Amino acid sequence: MKENADNLDFISNPKIVQHYLLLEEIGVFRHIDKLNKEIKDHKDLLSAAVEIFNKTTIDEILDAAVWKISDQFLPSFITFLWKPQRNREEVTIKSYKNYKLVDLNVPLQTITPLEPFFIQFPKPIAYDIFAFQVKDSMDPSILKALENINPELLIPIMGPFGIYGIVMVGRKMLSEGYTFEELFFLEQLMSFLSQSIQNNLHYEYSVRDVKTGLYNHGYFVSRLSEELARTKREEAVSSLMVIDVDKFKTFNDTFGHLAGDRVLESLAFTIKQAVRTGDIPSRFGGEEFTILLPNTPRQTAWLVAERLRTAVAAMKVPWEPPLPQVTISLGLVSFDGRTNADSNEIIKRADEALYQSKENGRNRTSVWGAGLLFRIQRSEANFATA
Ligand code: GH3
Ligand code: MG
Ligand code: MG
Repeated sequence: MKENADNLDFISNPKIVQHYLLLEEIGVFRHIDKLNKEIKDHKDLLSAAVEIFNKTTIDEILDAAVWKISDQFLPSFITFLWKPQRNREEVTIKSYKNYKLVDLNVPLQTITPLEPFFIQFPKPIAYDIFAFQVKDSMDPSILKALENINPELLIPIMGPFGIYGIVMVGRKMLSEGYTFEELFFLEQLMSFLSQSIQNNLHYEYSVRDVKTGLYNHGYFVSRLSEELARTKREEAVSSLMVIDVDKFKTFNDTFGHLAGDRVLESLAFTIKQAVRTGDIPSRFGGEEFTILLPNTPRQTAWLVAERLRTAVAAMKVPWEPPLPQVTISLGLVSFDGRTNADSNEIIKRADEALYQSKENGRNRTSVWGAGLLFRIQRSEANFATA
């Protein structure tokens, strides 16, 4: 036989035909096909893993997972519920239909009741089997809510802090039931998704203050140093605002620490509402907060501060019986590339301005080292300089 790949003379060679038939009869070719299919499935999984692990936000991770799942089999819907804050019950919910984000009105506020079951059985499970297993132990209103959503599969996202989230997958659009291979694919994909979401949440948990959900002290300090370096590099002007609740010790002593905590939560919410994307609101510690405002000169920062101060003075704190109004005092400092101050010095200056606000009667904003012109312009409004 010539060594030419195009030369197919050997096909008519009876000896080869005999071997071929023998291999076919004992199933070798079917086995090779099966192995090829497995190789393809593994390649698909690997590419899904790479794609999911390369994403940096939860939204991107979910989008990538939805595309990968929908490419394999189109489910009637996919709903993700996850806890953005470690110690909070509330879940964030995102649903997809046909690759697109939709609002499915999922009547679940918490997934914590599902936790005991999934700690025992941390795997994807058919909803019917799940419902049967938990029917005597689960709050019926939770089961009813799940039934309304009508998922075919439930897939838990578990981590060291228990349940982080849950994925609900609706029935398949184009054929009946999930095959063993599809369930295997889903289980693997969800383990990547879960790991990637965990990484993301662990990062968020590590930079967030547990009580208020704002950034924590450590994150704030490192961002302030970065911001100082950036203003030098890019000749930008930025501002730092420090906020302290007025007479909060007396408030706690009179109404109790729990009421005080509720005030801090409401204040954090009001701060979140007052800032723009790109601002960095943090809990500095206790009843003190900071807002770092990149690319914001002091006039603008002052307007933000005053808007926040007014919003807090009108803030309603959910508590029975109703609590008296709380107020805040604010200190502001702006810095640009010319400053020699380090981050400690910048914080000290903002604190000095805050002290000035306290000295001058509280519930007001003061600016560190504000120039005469600015002082005159703002003299009618509660404006003081440290
Ligand atoms: P000033 O107007 O001068 O700031 O008076 P103040 O009473 O707020 O000042 P001080 O710093 O003496 O007291 C702060 C109080 O804040 C003390 C503490 O009881 C309260 N506090 C700090 N952290 C928390 C917290 O997480 N929860 C509650 N409820 N209170 C807190
Ligand atoms: Mg204080
Ligand atoms: Mg205080």
